[in-house]
Amino acid sequence: MNYHITTIPGDGIGPEIVKEACKVLNQAGQVFGHSFDFQEVLMGGCSIDAYGVPLTEEALETARNSDAVLLGAVGGDVGNSRWYDVAPNLRPEAGLLAIRKGLNLFANIRPAYLYRELAGACPLKESIIGDGFDLVIMRELTGGLYFGERYTKEVDGVVTAVDTLTYNENEIRRIAVKAFDIAMKRRKRVISVDKANVLDSSRLWRNVVEQVAKDYPEITLSHMLVDNCAMQLVMNPGQFDVILTENMFGDILSDEASMITGSIGMLSSASMNESKFGLYEPSHGSAPDIAGKDLANPIATILSAAMMLRYSFDLDAEADAVEKAVQQVLTEGYRTGDIYGEGCKKVGCAKMGDLIAERIAR
Ligand code: NAD
Repeated sequence: MNYHITTIPGDGIGPEIVKEACKVLNQAGQVFGHSFDFQEVLMGGCSIDAYGVPLTEEALETARNSDAVLLGAVGGDVGNSRWYDVAPNLRPEAGLLAIRKGLNLFANIRPAYLYRELAGACPLKESIIGDGFDLVIMRELTGGLYFGERYTKEVDGVVTAVDTLTYNENEIRRIAVKAFDIAMKRRKRVISVDKANVLDSSRLWRNVVEQVAKDYPEITLSHMLVDNCAMQLVMNPGQFDVILTENMFGDILSDEASMITGSIGMLSSASMNESKFGLYEPSHGSAPDIAGKDLANPIATILSAAMMLRYSFDLDAEADAVEKAVQQVLTEGYRTGDIYGEGCKKVGCAKMGDLIAERIAR
C-alpha cells in the first residue's frame, strides 16, 4: 500500500529527529512492501519566520488531506528566542493548539514503557519495577476543566475564581471507544480513572464507559479513583495496560507515568480523531540547547512512527518490527548522550536512526 504522510519537522531538534523517523519508515516500507510519500510543511517558529503565523491554512489543509501526520517539535529557547515576546496566538506553540483543533484530535495516547536496559534511569526501586511495565494513558484532550466556562469576579467583596468541568455523554463515549479499540491491540485490560465519589461528571463518565464496555466482551474493565491511580502508578505500575481518563487527570497522570520511565528522549505519543487519523509526535520539546549538533535521541519520534503504523494504518507486524529494532539496538549497547551509561557505545542522532533502520526485519 501507499500512504501519504505530512511531516512537520518544526524547530530545534525537530528536523533531525523527523529525518530519522522517515528513514526508519522507508526501511519498514521496503522490508514489508509499502511505500510512504512524505509532504513537508512548516509549523512553529520556522513558519512564523516564513509566513508570520505559526500555522498557515495551507499547511493545515495539507495535514488534513493526508493519512497521518508526523511532527517533530516546535518552539525556541524559552525566554531567549525571537518568538518569545509576541502575542500568545503568534507564538510557535500556538501552532500545536491550532493543528489539534483543526484536525479535531480529541484522544491523546501516551505509552510508558520501561526498557530493561534503561531501568537505571527509572526512579523506582528494583522491587517495585519487578518485570517492568508497559502501559498507555488514553487522555481526553478537548473537554473538561480546561475548556469549560471560567471567570474571576468579586463576590461579596472577595475575589473569586470559577472553572467549570463539563462533559457530555458523546464526548465520553468517543474517547472510551478509542481506549477499548487500543486495548484490543494490547493486553485487553482497561482501567477507567475518575473521581466518581465526588464529581457528577465522573459518575456520567463511569456510566458511559460501562455502556461502551458491553460492545467489547473480550476486554476486562475496572474503575479506579484518580488519587488511588496516582499512588498505584508508583507502587505497582505493572498492573496497568490501558488507563482511560479525562483531560486534567490525564494531564497529571501522563506526566507522572513518563517520569517513572526516566528517559524523555524515549517517550512517544499520538493524538487521534474519530477516524483512524492521527498526529504522532515525541513527548519532548524542541531541545534548542542541543539542536543542530547531532546529539538528539530520535527514538521517541521513531516509536511515534511505530504508533502511526499500528493505530492509523493497522500495520501491526510492521510496528512490531520497528519496536523490536529499537529494543535490539539498546540491547547491543548503543546510546545517544541522554541515555548514555558506562560501558555503552555512544552514537549521534543520525547513526541511531541508521542502526534502527538496519535492524528492521520480518
Ligand atoms: P525539551 O523537552 O525541549 O527539553 C528538556 C531537556 O531534555 C533539554 O535538556 C533537552 O536537551 C532534553 N531533551 C529533550 N528531548 C531530547 C531528545 N530527543 N534527545 C536528547 N535530549 C532531549 O523542553 P523545554 O526545554 O522545556 O522546551 C524547549 C522548547 O520546546 C520550548 O520552546 C517549548 O515550548 C517547546 N516544547 C514543544 C513541545 C512540542 O512541540 N510538542 C513540547 C514541549 C515543549
